[in-house]
Amino acid sequence: MIVTIVGVGYVGLVSSAVFSDFGNVVFGLDVDEKRIERLQRGEIPFYEPGLTELVKRNLREKRLRFTTSYKDAVSQSDIVFICVGTPPKENGEADVTYIFDAAKKMAKYLQEGAIVVLKSTAPPSTTDAITRLIRERTKRSFSVAACPEFLREGSAVSDYLAPDRVVFGVSDEKSKEMLFRLHQPIKGERVVLDPKGAMMVKYASNAFLASKISFANAIANLCDRVGTDVKPVLDGLGIDRRIGRSFLYPGVGYGGSCFPKDVLALISIAKKYRYDFTFLKVVHKMNEEQIPYFIEKAEKHLGTLKNKEIAILGLSFKPNTDDLREAPSIKIITKLQKKGAKVTAYDPVAMENAKKLLKDVKYAKNPFDAVEGKDALFLVTEWNQFHELDLPAMKKAMRYPLLLDGRNFYDPDTLKAIGFIYEGVGR
Ligand code: NAD
Repeated sequence: MIVTIVGVGYVGLVSSAVFSDFGNVVFGLDVDEKRIERLQRGEIPFYEPGLTELVKRNLREKRLRFTTSYKDAVSQSDIVFICVGTPPKENGEADVTYIFDAAKKMAKYLQEGAIVVLKSTAPPSTTDAITRLIRERTKRSFSVAACPEFLREGSAVSDYLAPDRVVFGVSDEKSKEMLFRLHQPIKGERVVLDPKGAMMVKYASNAFLASKISFANAIANLCDRVGTDVKPVLDGLGIDRRIGRSFLYPGVGYGGSCFPKDVLALISIAKKYRYDFTFLKVVHKMNEEQIPYFIEKAEKHLGTLKNKEIAILGLSFKPNTDDLREAPSIKIITKLQKKGAKVTAYDPVAMENAKKLLKDVKYAKNPFDAVEGKDALFLVTEWNQFHELDLPAMKKAMRYPLLLDGRNFYDPDTLKAIGFIYEGVGR
């Protein structure tokens, strides 16, 4: 098959690499000329394990081509995926401008019978709007479908190849047959429903996972007051297969390019249909309260934070990515700086991106360098390599041995035995 992927960000680039690796000819299309030039040279614009090799191999074999030309790509394609961003607007709604722009630009080049597939996360009504925008611009027949994406940054390639399910939102048999064929090598159960339902699956999934995190935070905050360790409590809860252990991880709350924006978008979709999604409003509010809760814990030990030196370990919104969109680290550092603290940060891959977003932060060469002479260490992202730190030496190097564990990553007893003053949540 010949496929165009519009928008080669995290989702679009992984889609392009995987579908070309299956033997299809894939045009990765983007409006960002610099990004396309770099991709043509085999340079990946972000950190994602396993992606560089996949892109390079398929570039070499000439199945994968990067372009800025809608005409060249779309006019040859059987299927066109829309993978552009849907960032949050001020009021929480998903901004679908980029999707509409893509639909308008591709319309006149679509082949007879082409299938346009929405992969971006967007309100259920978006597929109807895309249909209208294209219909106004071409006399050829076409179909619009929705195939939401569930990959996680940091394990995007393996998630793409072996998801729990592939969701096909289709309105006709031909789209279903073509999309089944394209996805044939991908594992996972198939769920077939209409395009609106497909988008509801995506929003409901992210909203539910975010809810599990906020629920775990609520239980942890209560364990703090009850005086018991939340970890075995959540083990005891999550072993129940009806509930499951995943995403029951308390800490500084969820961040990233999806959960915060998709929770707010679903609240605003509900509002459009005059449904008050009180439940999700509380999930969001709870998430907003977790970082201030940790800052209070720091103040409990340090008093005022003015002129206190604080080391931050981990900047990316989660391990194995350099993505800083809605990363808790950004909010934490900004809040600490507002209170007069001086921040030194270390992250294995995200420091270059952080330099573009944060002011007055010092960047350390390694974790040890970050903590030397500091009043507190705040672990924000649970990179695996932070398990292997020489914590006794780090404790010695600090001015005051306060460790704020924003991910409940370390064992409190081990840390206390080393001499740290340990603060997690619910420990
Ligand atoms: P991204 O910001 O990394 O990439 C979007 C790309 O689209 C950019 O390169 C941008 O230049 C390009 N673009 C914008 N307008 C365009 C246009 N008119 N024509 C061509 N290219 C255009 O976005 P992302 O993180 O890949 O997310 C894309 C969508 O997938 C979003 O709706 C997101 O919610 C959803 N999603 C993301 C993830 C994730 O982990 N990042 C996972 C599942 C779903």
